[in-house]
Amino acid sequence: SKKWKVNPAEIKLRDGDIISQNHFNIMAGPCSIENEEQVDAVIAHLVENNVKIMRGGVYKPRSSPYSFRGLGMEGLKMWHDKAKAAGIKIITEVMQVSQVEEMYDFIDIYQVGARNTQNFNLLDELGKVDKPVMIKRGVSGTIEELLYSAEYVFSGGNEDLILCERGIRTFENMTRNTLDINAIPVLKDRSHLPVVVDPSHGIGIRKHVEPIALAGIMAGADGVIFELHPNPEKAMSDGQQSLYFEESAAMINKMKKAYELR
Ligand code: PEP
Ligand code: MN
Repeated sequence: SKKWKVNPAEIKLRDGDIISQNHFNIMAGPCSIENEEQVDAVIAHLVENNVKIMRGGVYKPRSSPYSFRGLGMEGLKMWHDKAKAAGIKIITEVMQVSQVEEMYDFIDIYQVGARNTQNFNLLDELGKVDKPVMIKRGVSGTIEELLYSAEYVFSGGNEDLILCERGIRTFENMTRNTLDINAIPVLKDRSHLPVVVDPSHGIGIRKHVEPIALAGIMAGADGVIFELHPNPEKAMSDGQQSLYFEESAAMINKMKKAYELR
C-alpha cells in the first residue's frame, strides 16, 4: 500500500543492527550446518570480515530423501552458542509450523525457503511471532505471489519482513536457476520491504557468484545472502556454489564498494 512506500520497514536486530531499504546487509555461511569445526571456521571468517549475520540450514529441503537433511535442533543449539559468543546473528530455514516455536530462542531471522513460499500454514504461524522473517521467492513463483506470501505474514501481525530473489526455474539448464534481476527493482517499487539477493542459488556455479552478486546490488538489492564453506569440495550440500574463504573475503570488499557507488 501507499503507507508502506512512505515508511520503509526498519527491521531491528538485537545489538541494534538494522535491515531496511536504507542499509546494506550481508548474510553468509554454509548451505548446511555440519559440525563444530565447520561452524568455528565460518564464524572466525565472518568476524574477520565484519559480517554480522550467518546463514546455515539445520533442516534442509533436499530433492532426494537420501541426501543430507540437516542436524536439526541439536545442530542449531551448538551453532547458537558459538554465534552468540562471537556476536553473530543467525538466519536459518524453518520448514514447518512446529519448528517456529522450537527454533525461537536460538535464531534471529526465520528463513522461508523457496519450496515453502506458499506453505500458507507456515506463513500464518510466522505472522504470530515477533522475530523477522525472510521469504524467498518460490521455485516457480511470480513476483506477485512472493508479495502475497509476505502479506500472509504481515496480515497475521508480523511486519518485520525481508524479501529474497533467489532465481526461478526456467527452460534454461546451463545454470541452476535463472536469477530474475528484474524482480529486484520491481519488488522495491511495489513494497516498503528490504530486498535481498541470493546469487548462490541464483546461478549455482561458484565462479559466477561474484558478478551476479554485484549485478544484484546495482539492480537495487539491500542485502546479499551467499554460501561459503571452509572446504567446498567436502560440503554436505551445495558445495558447487559455495565460495572459498579467500573468494568470500574478496567478494565482500567488492560488494561494499558496489553499494557505495550505487
Ligand atoms: C538454502 O538457502 O540453502 C536453500 C535451500 O535455498 P532455496 O530455498 O532458495 O532453495
Ligand atoms: Mn543451499
